[in-house]
Amino acid sequence: MQRFGVIGSPISHSLSPIIHNFLFSYLGIKAHYEKIFVPSSEMLGQTLNSLKGANITLPYKEKVFGLCDEVVGIAQEIEAINTIICSDNKKRGFNTDAYGFWECVKNLEIKSALILGAGGSAKAIAVMLQTQGVDVSIYNRTFSKLDFFESKKIKILSSLECQDYDLVVHSTSVGLDGRSLPFDASKLLPIVMQAKYIFDVIYSSNVRIVNIDGFKAFLSSRPKTAFIEFSKKGIDGLEMLLYQALFAFEIFCDKQYCFEELRALFYNSCLK
Ligand code: NDP
Repeated sequence: MQRFGVIGSPISHSLSPIIHNFLFSYLGIKAHYEKIFVPSSEMLGQTLNSLKGANITLPYKEKVFGLCDEVVGIAQEIEAINTIICSDNKKRGFNTDAYGFWECVKNLEIKSALILGAGGSAKAIAVMLQTQGVDVSIYNRTFSKLDFFESKKIKILSSLECQDYDLVVHSTSVGLDGRSLPFDASKLLPIVMQAKYIFDVIYSSNVRIVNIDGFKAFLSSRPKTAFIEFSKKGIDGLEMLLYQALFAFEIFCDKQYCFEELRALFYNSCLK
């Protein structure tokens, strides 16, 4: 039985085991995926060595970048890893957050985007949008945390100015309570009103999900995040979570599946 897991601190909220164990079981693959609480970065190496593959979440994505023997694809630019596969005593690192995000928005007409927040998810999204030729701007509470974006020549805003953006991405961790906004509502309102599309990386976490049926039900009907409620439109981060997991699953299995078929497995309950 091959062992996989999601590594982070905290980790109890993670939905990744439900997604991956469902896929392993559905496809008859002898593997198991678990939540692994890693309290400090000193334990990352030995934890990764005990697994065939892993997903990495807060706060270790940048640390794991430095532990990889090989970094594949867009993760080289993002300098953060959310998926690892171990073979021949070598760790290969990927960033499927970026692909998961792009899968959600790839059919939209986007020439310009504003990203609110400058953490790990913002890095993945900014690099992916830039790679796709989108003109990207960024605004963050802490100005001093924008060096990465400056080095990528992404436009940095010193204040929230009202401009036309095709896409506004909310990538801060604020709003899980369904009420709070990261910045002054009066500054945000004209920006979100003018934007064609809104994307929120977070999703409502008020519901306790313990199995695949609970996950499917949540996917088909979930409370709005504070940012989506405020914007009166938009896509939240649950599909990004699902898609990054599907890309990671293909890496774990070293096999390309039909993405639409995999995706449909999770929407069975809504397609009835
Ligand atoms: P980070 O911790 O790397 O970054 C957090 C960001 O939120 C920073 O820009 C930080 O600003 C900002 N922030 C935090 N508190 C406040 C506040 N009170 N007011 C304004 N800004 C604030 O997190 P990530 O980017 O990795 O993740 C962000 C969220 O996205 C998390 O909830 C995570 O679970 C979710 N996520 C979802 C994914 C998905 O698949 N849907 C994938 C990855 C993440 P500052 O620099 O000023 O501290």
